[in-house]
Amino acid sequence: MFINRLETAEGWMMKHKPNGYIAICQCGRTVGAMSLDRTERKEAGQLLGQWISDGCILQPKFDCIWSAEVTSCVCDKKAAS
Ligand SMILES: [Zn+2]
Repeated sequence: MFINRLETAEGWMMKHKPNGYIAICQCGRTVGAMSLDRTERKEAGQLLGQWISDGCILQPKFDCIWSAEVTSCVCDKKAAS
């Protein structure tokens, strides 16, 4: 389940109420993770917006317990397509 980039993060959060997000870069790496339980809503919205503007795909997490392995983006090592 992925968020369409055309849909706003804020709107998506309201509708689906996940408890966290991971950000997957275009290179396929998980470059960010956020728990909504531990993040202010306004701050969360800004972070999601930042990820979207970076071209990441946001994947919501609905489980009570989840974890994500955050790794370094490898886009810089490739020529921009
Ligand atoms: Zn990348």
